[in-house]
Amino acid sequence: MQTIRHPLVQSYLGTQRELVSFHYSNGRLGQKIYMQASLHADELPPMLVAHHLRTRLAALEAANKIIGEIVVVPVANPIGLAQTLMHNQIGRFDLASAENFNRHYPAFYPDVAAALSTTLTDSADTNKQVIRRAMLAHLDQITPTNELASMRKTLMRLAVDADVSLDLHCDSDAVLHLYTGTPLWAQCEPLARYMGAHATLLATESGGNPFDEACSQTWWQLAEHFRDKFPIPMGCLCVTVELRGQTDVNHAAAMKDANNIIAFLQHRGAIEGAAPPMPALLHGATPLAGSEAMESPVSGVVVFLKAPGEMVNAGDAVAEVIDPVTSLVTTLKAGTAGVLYARENRYFATAGMRLCKIAGKTAFRTGKLLGA
Ligand SMILES: [Zn+2]
Repeated sequence: MQTIRHPLVQSYLGTQRELVSFHYSNGRLGQKIYMQASLHADELPPMLVAHHLRTRLAALEAANKIIGEIVVVPVANPIGLAQTLMHNQIGRFDLASAENFNRHYPAFYPDVAAALSTTLTDSADTNKQVIRRAMLAHLDQITPTNELASMRKTLMRLAVDADVSLDLHCDSDAVLHLYTGTPLWAQCEPLARYMGAHATLLATESGGNPFDEACSQTWWQLAEHFRDKFPIPMGCLCVTVELRGQTDVNHAAAMKDANNIIAFLQHRGAIEGAAPPMPALLHGATPLAGSEAMESPVSGVVVFLKAPGEMVNAGDAVAEVIDPVTSLVTTLKAGTAGVLYARENRYFATAGMRLCKIAGKTAFRTGKLLGA
């Protein structure tokens, strides 16, 4: 195992921070697997999963079982970790810029497409390597001018040439679910089955350039761009893995998640050994554009009538918002049928606040598909 320290640009005097990546390899030719934990720094289940993963990976490396390279960044966002405001941790948004830590990653296409028109071949495997080199070269031209930009570039530089990139997050109060690119579903389905995902949300363009799309979107954009000219594979399976809710930090769940990730990597051939039998898929993938975010039209105290993981039908009462002064009870009813996969963990609603999300099967939304 090799440890690499990546110093970040120092935005503030006296605050030199770094990212640390751990590289597991037995020197055997194979895939590159990348995993990072807690890019949203107040989402802690991923860090505990990374802790247990590292124990498993160290043992597998000692047993000469790693085929290729497996990279783990167990603390992906030291900037967000340091943001405590009046005893509350602010880990989703950068306090200096107000930017979401999981947005604004590079859009490689079309710059990379222009550079590739003379270097692609008739071999999909060769093209995979050519495209990875072009993306890395594109990244190397970016000179980050502040700490956040250097963190984004460092993470992207570690991930963009991986065959599999898992961005480990969690939601507010949720069952385990995934986000990935629509063209990646066939590659992602084994992960959904091993992880026990209750929903997988698919999109080709979520809006805002999140980390997962920056890793993977270029591949289907290039495949379309060079259609009928050069074969372009889906070279990076990048998945945002939502490891339940923010308070689900416990050894039992984290060890189970780490074991399931190892099983998936055995299935992928990145770790030697027979993968355990693949469990049944809990729910098929659904379009991110079909996910209903239920908003409260009024302010009040929230009482949920449905729990994460429950199936709801259109018209089902999902939550009540109560005004204890007027005694007005506003009942929120689902507009779509599907799995209720995540809900708020704050119980005071402001008018317009999103309270929960339902994975509907039919796309109906357009524009930016992710929340703030
Ligand atoms: Zn997150």
